[in-house]
Amino acid sequence: MISPTTLSKIENIIGKKNLFTSQEDRICYAYDATNLFYLPDAVAIPGTAEEIDAIMQLANQEKFPVTPRGAGTGMTGGALAVNGGLVLVLTRLNRILEIDTENLIAVVEPGVITGDLQKEVEKIGLFYPPDPSSLKFSTMGGNVAECAGGARAVKYGVTKDYIIGLEVILPTSGIISTGVRTRKGVVGYDLTKLFVGSEGTLGIITRIILKLLPLPEARKTLLAIFDRLDTAMQTVSGIISARIIPAALEFMDQTAISCVEDYLPPGLPREAGALLLIEVDGRKEAVESEADTIYQLCKKMGARNIQTAGDESEAALLWQARRAVSPALFKLRPHKISEDIVVPRNRIAEMVSQAKTIGTENDLIVLCFGHAGDGNIHINIMIDREDRAEVNRAQRAKEQIFRAAVELGGTLSGEHGIGITKSPFLGLELNPLAVETMKKIKAALDPNNILNPGKVFPY
Ligand SMILES: Cc1cc2nc3c(=O)[nH]c(=O)nc-3n(C[C@H](O)[C@H](O)[C@H](O)COP(=O)(O)OP(=O)(O)OC[C@H]3O[C@@H](n4cnc5c(N)ncnc54)[C@H](O)[C@@H]3O)c2cc1C
Repeated sequence: MISPTTLSKIENIIGKKNLFTSQEDRICYAYDATNLFYLPDAVAIPGTAEEIDAIMQLANQEKFPVTPRGAGTGMTGGALAVNGGLVLVLTRLNRILEIDTENLIAVVEPGVITGDLQKEVEKIGLFYPPDPSSLKFSTMGGNVAECAGGARAVKYGVTKDYIIGLEVILPTSGIISTGVRTRKGVVGYDLTKLFVGSEGTLGIITRIILKLLPLPEARKTLLAIFDRLDTAMQTVSGIISARIIPAALEFMDQTAISCVEDYLPPGLPREAGALLLIEVDGRKEAVESEADTIYQLCKKMGARNIQTAGDESEAALLWQARRAVSPALFKLRPHKISEDIVVPRNRIAEMVSQAKTIGTENDLIVLCFGHAGDGNIHINIMIDREDRAEVNRAQRAKEQIFRAAVELGGTLSGEHGIGITKSPFLGLELNPLAVETMKKIKAALDPNNILNPGKVFPY
């Protein structure tokens, strides 16, 4: 527990109105998108990097844990105060400080909502591509800490591909700047890359310098329905082999299609094996020609139905089914275990089939959708948390799915990170020396284990 004396010291740093200690307030910061629950001792919402620095100094003196938090939309429990202590919310640091149109960079604070940044830069013909589905509410700080990605990753990459510099408060206190404001820069170790994806365990990000691109001139969206998942995935390979990298190449399996049909319904054939949602962007003429090639390819591969959006509103309708999957699947069971493994693109059908078999063998509903273009599959195991036997079967299935992903040459997580929900499985992918090396980096930066303890590593 943080003592009352320490709480009053925190209050002196950030002001009374920015420290929350009542049960009601603490409950609001006790969960994230995992729906797990860990009540912090207190919640601080500082307004400057200097205040955060002073808190970290105090935390090291008085030895209380500090858990950084953005919008709390993380899927692996990263923002949960698993050892109690202080939750440090970054949402007051929410300014877009600069958009440099000559050098195509922006400088933002961590509490900026990703979608807000995108809207601002798009107003002046620029583009920040990383597009987690949570972009309307997740923060840039959270995106950097998790190295968030989205549908556009297949063509444009993920958060780490855009972050060129950071301001970070170290776990033992002290403010450092990493990286550059230029396109190139190789002075010393690449600390920027170290902090991106470090899940709030190595430092608190207080400023972000990122690259921007010119906004693509045109965009075209297609939706193709296939009888079989493997045919859909062969079509994905066909598109890439035709030297087209779509801006998005998403898929849904039969269970996901049927589930969305119960929820909206968008008028999809329930028994269809798979759906592909494909978007191309770029110069107008190139987009038209690529969309036509993709249409012909889907037809040749035997797609039973192909729709092409004529304008933005039609495109939004085509995206509707894909965007509705996450809320729709709660029609099946009240809770889900949502994983985001990645396998090589040409092993997706195999992975989905293995996940389904694992589901059947464990008497569970398993459905798959996600980013076919980069092999990132959202595998959802549907459960009722009240049903202990079902939860145990789901935990077993989850491990079997992780093992299958690694055996297929894949990885445990493409976007959501490790946090607490995947930490027991780290050893399935990383060898003991790699884990030890990571632990040494953590210990070197955070010798008192103050910043976000209990995350990433199996303890
Ligand atoms: C409906 C839904 C859809 C989603 N879709 C996607 C998706 O498509 N792609 C994807 O990648 N993720 C997705 N996510 C997961 C989540 O939105 C991302 O991980 C996001 O980056 C988290 O941002 P946040 O601001 O909510 O961070 P939080 O959940 O608050 O924190 C996440 C982690 O970042 C750390 N952190 C937060 N801010 C800072 C900071 N300033 N400095 C240091 N550490 C910090 C926290 O300690 C924690 O470990 C989705 C989540 C939901 C609920």
